[in-house]
Amino acid sequence: MIIIMKPTATQADVQTICDWITSLRYQPRVTTGSDQTIIACIGSEINPQTVAQLEALPTVQEIIHVSKKYKLVSRDFKPEDTVIDIKGTKVTYDFQGLKEEGIRVLREVKRDFPDIAYITEVPGPTQIEGLMDVTDVFQVGARNSQNYDLLERLGKAGKPVILKRGIAGTVEEWLQSAEYLMANGCKEVILCERGIRTYETITRNCLDLGSLAATKRLTHLPIVADPSHGGGKLELVEPLSRAALGAGCDGLLVETHPDPKHAFSDAAQQIPSAQFGDYLKAIAPWRELAMAARRA
Ligand code: PEP
Ligand code: MN
Repeated sequence: MIIIMKPTATQADVQTICDWITSLRYQPRVTTGSDQTIIACIGSEINPQTVAQLEALPTVQEIIHVSKKYKLVSRDFKPEDTVIDIKGTKVTYDFQGLKEEGIRVLREVKRDFPDIAYITEVPGPTQIEGLMDVTDVFQVGARNSQNYDLLERLGKAGKPVILKRGIAGTVEEWLQSAEYLMANGCKEVILCERGIRTYETITRNCLDLGSLAATKRLTHLPIVADPSHGGGKLELVEPLSRAALGAGCDGLLVETHPDPKHAFSDAAQQIPSAQFGDYLKAIAPWRELAMAARRA
């Protein structure tokens, strides 16, 4: 259930309702927009009598029943897009194999380039602590998309999270995972469409652009697309990037490597670092077009 307060409602009015909701063992989540305050009530459905009492309050404009299993991530709760600012930009990072050594390398790189924002995939809940001082954003990999222990702890970690869609995850499952992160305290979730498994084998995954466009309409959260895992082949990264920009993604998560033949993972899809500038130049007109379409 979502309570929309009247524009004239004061902070004290909002607090009164939050206290009431809390006494009924629901968790109130408040979003303050430019005109109105919205309170999402997290928990199972509130009984109809209480709803009627709430509706009758002079400070309440409307009660919306959300039948969706996700509320915090829903546009019903927050109609405008969420913009997540990570040191001024939205960014990327990769690899699961180096463990402690990887963190050491990351710490060194961070020391030399302190102004870059770092995103690190966290494979399990026990690795969160060791990454807290080196990463700006945690990434949840596709295989961990429904690892609720990890999501719960990440929710409490106080950093933004990039949540990849599960390999065989539906959009609703993906949004429910995002909901779980937010219900556990994460304020900034970025969704990542990285392709799903289909019967097709010519591509590594099937970058699901229809779902990306549909999900943009369901949630206020930003969605980035991963054309590297989406196609799994170097030659597909550029066309899939163009297509994802056309479908309305908010950013691209792209893999690059100085010497892809010797990459420990995903060698076939890495853009050689020396060619990364060309890639950026090649997609620039599509990026401009996508941005102009948004402004229109
Ligand atoms: C990755 O980003 O390198 C990765 C492992 O991606 P995914 O979780 O989408 O497979
Ligand atoms: Mn990878």
